[in-house]
This record gives sequence, C-alpha cells and structure tokens, in this order.
Amino acid sequence: MLSIRDLRVRYGRSVAALHGIDLDVSPDGVVAVLGSNGAGKSTLLRAISGTLRMHRGSIAGGDIRYDGKPLGRLDPAAIVRLGVVGVPEGRQVFARMTVDENLRAGGIGARSADLRAAARRRVHELFPVLAERAKQRAGLLSGGEQQMLAIGRALMSGPKLLLLDEPSLGLAPQVVERIGKIIREIHAQGTAVVLVEQNAVMALNVADHAIVLEVGRVALAGTTAELARSEDVQRLYLGGH
Ligand code: ATP
Repeated sequence: MLSIRDLRVRYGRSVAALHGIDLDVSPDGVVAVLGSNGAGKSTLLRAISGTLRMHRGSIAGGDIRYDGKPLGRLDPAAIVRLGVVGVPEGRQVFARMTVDENLRAGGIGARSADLRAAARRRVHELFPVLAERAKQRAGLLSGGEQQMLAIGRALMSGPKLLLLDEPSLGLAPQVVERIGKIIREIHAQGTAVVLVEQNAVMALNVADHAIVLEVGRVALAGTTAELARSEDVQRLYLGGH
C-alpha cells in the first residue's frame, strides 16, 4: 500500500534530517515509528503527507508510492483525496470552532452527504464524548478530548491510511491507554496506520511492525514482538537495563 524507498530529506544545506529511509505499510498494518527527539519522525510523516514543502528550504529525494502512485509531486490536498490523512503533532484543532464544526471541516472532501453522515456516525461511536460535546468550543476540551477530536476530524474524510504524529504527547497514562485502544479499533475497521511515538510502550502494544529511527536512519526494524525483545529497545525505550 505505502512503499518508501531511500527517502532522503534536508532542511537547507546544513540539516540532513533523513538519510535514506525504507518503509512498507500493508493495507491491514499498523506500523510504529519510534525514536528520540530530532530523529526525523515528524519529517517522515511530512514527506508522506506532502506537507514537507511548506517547510522552508526542504529538499527531498527518493521514492514514496501509495498504491503504486508516486506521491512526491502531489500537493497535500491531492494526497488526502487518495486516502492518506495526517493528524499533526500537538492536536491542532480549531479552538474557536465547535466540536461539530471541526468534524465538518474534516468532512469537506467527502464524496457525498451520505458518506459524510456515515463518517460522523463512526466518529461518534468511536468517541462518544465528541457527540456529547458537539456544540462546545474545541478549545475548551481537555487535552485527551482534543486529541480525539483531531483523530475524529481526520476520520471524517474516510482515510485508508492514517498518519498519527505523537498522539500520546502530554496526556495522562489512562488517556494514552484509551487512545491506544481506539487506534486498534480504527485499524480493525479497515484503516492502516503509521503511528509516530516517543511512548514506546504504547506504540509497541498498538502496532504490529515498528522501525526505530536514530538521527535519520533506520536503526532497527521488525515485528513489534521482535523489537520488544531487543536489548537496545529495552534499554533505550522501555526503561530496561
Ligand atoms: P520531535 O519528536 O522532536 O518532533 P522528530 O523525530 O519528529 O523529533 P524531526 O522534527 O523530524 O524529528 O526533525 C529531524 C531533524 O530535522 C532535527 O535535527 C530537526 O532539528 C530538523 N528540522 C525539523 N524541522 C525543521 C525545519 N523546518 N527546518 C530546519 N530543520 C528542521
């Protein structure tokens, strides 16, 4: 479904963010991308979603294909229309708009009113709190609820591949656990997921495959069961010794 070969990204002359990344995501996959601050995780998602070129001086090389189509020259809206939808880091909901208006904004690209209504029902089933708070301003929601809204808004366009950038950031452990369960549920309903996370415990629970990025390179790759057993992952990301 998604196939990335030798992806290289620079920001201007001085910063090389990715040095030749390979990654495959199957239609029924959840792939976690682990790594510490600055490893290049967000850059990878930006390259997939087409938003990289909004960053000054960025230059990308290599090949990103979705269902065989090269994404390199497409703008972000065209990539969304193909079914690849991102939820950026920091849950950028429209704070002054209501929950419902945020969801409607996510559904603008839907092909029909029926599909939009079905997507809204799906989002309300996954996140009942978004139905309860439909008329409330998004800026008044808790951090966890805003993350749910950001994911819900992305689901409104019926994505086939969802790109999540650190959904656990700044959230309490119980909320992280709930978000993890919801990501599994979204996957069970037929949406593939790329999950960028610093929270390795959550990511390895939720995903089936994972890569570990270290300063722009894939340091480790495998099934999450294999990675959870790896001494390096235990030591660096799971608090082992
Ligand atoms: P974080 O978890 O902190 O977001 P990350 O793994 O997502 O980290 P990136 O944000 O992709 O890492 O950053 C990779 C490298 O590229 C870092 O060295 C970062 O400083 C640099 N970088 C990221 N965005 C830009 C930009 N717009 N301009 C210049 N350098 C950038």
